[in-house]
Amino acid sequence: MKNKEVAVGDSLESLFSLTPSNCKEIDAMNKKPPFDQIIALTEEQEERLALRQIHISSRALHKMFFMAKEVIRLFNEPLEVYALAVGNSEVIEDILIPRQMCSHTSIHINAKDLLSLMPEIQKQDVNVLGWTHSHANFSVFFSGTDTQNQKTILAETSNFRTLNGSRVKFCYGLTVNIHQDVFGMVSTQFSSGKIYSNQATLEIHSSPNDGVLSDFEEAALSQILRDHIHILKSSSQDFKSEHC
Ligand SMILES: [Zn+2]
Repeated sequence: MKNKEVAVGDSLESLFSLTPSNCKEIDAMNKKPPFDQIIALTEEQEERLALRQIHISSRALHKMFFMAKEVIRLFNEPLEVYALAVGNSEVIEDILIPRQMCSHTSIHINAKDLLSLMPEIQKQDVNVLGWTHSHANFSVFFSGTDTQNQKTILAETSNFRTLNGSRVKFCYGLTVNIHQDVFGMVSTQFSSGKIYSNQATLEIHSSPNDGVLSDFEEAALSQILRDHIHILKSSSQDFKSEHC
């Protein structure tokens, strides 16, 4: 089965430390611990409360499906694509596709390229709620590498929700393919530090025109893919591939 590696390193940390909404969050965190320490939940309560839903607009979902198909059409190869899932509060409203280097077995994104998404994040006034990637024409699931990436994104982003009076941190991960299959994982971190990653159902929020992209939107997304996807034909030391 194909697999890939997304090298995110500390790049999201850098990205987030600069976003205006996150500055507010960091200010708040400096004044009090990142987690609400007052209400301690039992392990059983944590397990029951851990998130099992991903909220996403139909437009963002259509963009993910389009991204999966369009990259293959453009390059005539079964390439995978990586994007950040962004939105306000807890609903994914859009995806942002950084410059990335792809081979058939790996995707590599460097910090500089993630940082180049900053102006768009600021313009949209959104937070990075998680990430998404396509599995080309393969089935959707979370590989070992995907699970590792999810942990990295959770560690390096700062999305909080209140569950049963307790503040928890969360992040979304979605895998899509050209058949419009979706696999979602949501990770929830409680004040105990314990992380629960659950397979998630999708709560799809309506968008204008049922989220169907206009020709203009498709053309714009296609252009971003053309500009941002760079193909690595042969193996290189810059790349780390992992097969499972
Ligand atoms: Zn994957």
